[in-house]
Amino acid sequence: MSGCCGHETKFDGVSPDYRRRLWIVIGLNAGMFAVEMAAGQLAKSQALQADALDFFGDALTYGISLAVIGASLRVRSNAALAKAVSLLLMGLWVFGSTLWRVFYTEIPEAEIMGVVGLMALAANLASVALLVSYKDGDANVRSVWLCSRNDAIGNVTVMLAAAGVWGTATGWPDLIVAAIMATLFLSSAFQIIRQALAERREEGAHAH
Ligand SMILES: [Zn+2]
Repeated sequence: MSGCCGHETKFDGVSPDYRRRLWIVIGLNAGMFAVEMAAGQLAKSQALQADALDFFGDALTYGISLAVIGASLRVRSNAALAKAVSLLLMGLWVFGSTLWRVFYTEIPEAEIMGVVGLMALAANLASVALLVSYKDGDANVRSVWLCSRNDAIGNVTVMLAAAGVWGTATGWPDLIVAAIMATLFLSSAFQIIRQALAERREEGAHAH
């Protein structure tokens, strides 16, 4: 889930091999974002789309962290703010479309939800294997681990929602899970925006 993945991760001074692994993880996350969003539309599952938000956030976080290595504080804080705003917009869109579905319910395709949820779990476990087995990341290792564990819980929750949809033949388990995940995502997006704005203020104070 999106609770802990939003923190700005510092990758200054990482080895080329660790950097290469990060690129693979970025590709995995960006790819799974696209797959889950598309499958969510196709299967009419809001939970899949809410789970996709986390892949979006993680791809952005790792991507921006790599891109701003060695950049000035100003560039870093602008990048953090741009990330936070795009997370907020994506989160609002999924939250809004979930609310819409409360009034215009559809029964999602449970099989697609289950299969794609399992793919998402595999992608997150692969990311852990790629980053955690590597000892170069010191403090990052712990945050990557915590983050991926929460993501895995989210993926399993999507599979449970799929079972609920299948068992009840209604869309409610999908909507409830999606609403909870989107709410968590939005609250962490707000936190990141607050943090980014605070960093900008701090930076301004140092400049004068
Ligand atoms: Zn994550």
